[in-house]
Amino acid sequence: MDFSIPEDLKAVKNLARDLARNVLIPLEPEVNRLGKAPDSAMDKLKELGFFGVVIPEQYGGMGLGVLALTLITEELAHAHHAYLHEMALANGIGSHSLLLDGSEEQRRRYLPDIASGRKIAAFALTEPNAGSDPSSAETYAVKQGNEWVINGNKHFITNGADADIVTVIAVTDKEKRSRGGFTAFIVEKGTPGLGVAQIQESMGRPPHCQAEIYFQDCRVPEANIVGTLGNGFSVAMRTLDMGRVNVAAKALGIADRLLQMSIDYAKQRVQFKQPIASFQAIQWMIADMVTELHAARWITYNAAWRLDQGEKIPQESAIVKLFATEMVGRVADRAVQIHGGMGVMQELAVEGFYRDVRVMRIYEGTSEIQRLVIARDELK
Ligand SMILES: Cc1cc2nc3c(=O)[nH]c(=O)nc-3n(C[C@H](O)[C@H](O)[C@H](O)COP(=O)(O)OP(=O)(O)OC[C@H]3O[C@@H](n4cnc5c(N)ncnc54)[C@H](O)[C@@H]3O)c2cc1C
Repeated sequence: MDFSIPEDLKAVKNLARDLARNVLIPLEPEVNRLGKAPDSAMDKLKELGFFGVVIPEQYGGMGLGVLALTLITEELAHAHHAYLHEMALANGIGSHSLLLDGSEEQRRRYLPDIASGRKIAAFALTEPNAGSDPSSAETYAVKQGNEWVINGNKHFITNGADADIVTVIAVTDKEKRSRGGFTAFIVEKGTPGLGVAQIQESMGRPPHCQAEIYFQDCRVPEANIVGTLGNGFSVAMRTLDMGRVNVAAKALGIADRLLQMSIDYAKQRVQFKQPIASFQAIQWMIADMVTELHAARWITYNAAWRLDQGEKIPQESAIVKLFATEMVGRVADRAVQIHGGMGVMQELAVEGFYRDVRVMRIYEGTSEIQRLVIARDELK
């Protein structure tokens, strides 16, 4: 067993670390002021190729794989989440279905624009009546001539209002449903019948980038089917398997930032004539943060590495997503506690991160659904 990070990946990890420390973190007040990441910072991420870390070189990406993406994401997640969300979609659920099942023509047509950050991608599975149970989706598509006509609503869609390319999962056979009756389609921005029903503002710091989108007699050509007719449920589930490791990587970076902030604060904050770091109660919180982060880091790296070997790891992806996102919740809570009253003041980033991390236990499958996947696999 070799647990060392390969030299070439170390270089790219350091690049991301330097960018986070020297550019992104210092610009955080500007992010809060603007309510979005400054264009200059986003341009830098695009220039470095970070929007296409997992996209193969022949489609304009870096072709570095999931472990590289994990290391880069971990470093960048030390900074405000506004920097990451678009990049995470490009390397995650926005492009995975094309990477996994897209035709050569679809990959050539869409991936270079996603990899360069020129176009924004989104993935639309969730509906008002189909969240944890996507098999109850109601959005449907019927064939008319050489086209498919899509009708229905998807909600909570990240980048839904801005996306240039949406992969949407629709029912194409009402009898078979999730057992061969779902199909994935690409719908491009501007297609008549695709629209935004409402922007959905959520907890956490801006940007609020979720939207309910609707399809009203929205016509797409047969060529826009991703994979084959009827394999949409499988496309969706495998897309999420890859995405879950990416979410865990983000949790690692945030947890490390909060840990470092807590250590710095505990060393300089004096009460009872001594730094609070000298109190065992504070030390134990730091010890628990370090221990859980360490465990989460290694299971995440291992899962990323296994995905790079071409392994199918639905159970391990669920384990990693569950553990890392629950871990970052506990770390954020302790970070607030160590900072005392300052922990809830907007003046410090701790308060913002505390709100940001809550949703990580919900999107891309709730903690309960991860447990269900893990147990089902273990009991089968
Ligand atoms: C910020 C954000 C961004 C998102 N981005 C996207 C996106 O880009 N694309 C997309 O398609 N979706 C997206 N989602 C949707 C997300 O994946 C769903 O919110 C999530 O899967 C949960 O579905 P739900 O919200 O309908 O909750 P529900 O399914 O209604 O769950 C409610 C509660 O019941 C629990 N529960 C449900 N079923 C079970 C069960 N069988 N056993 C035990 N407990 C259960 C859940 O764990 C939860 O605690 C996003 C959500 C959020 C909040």
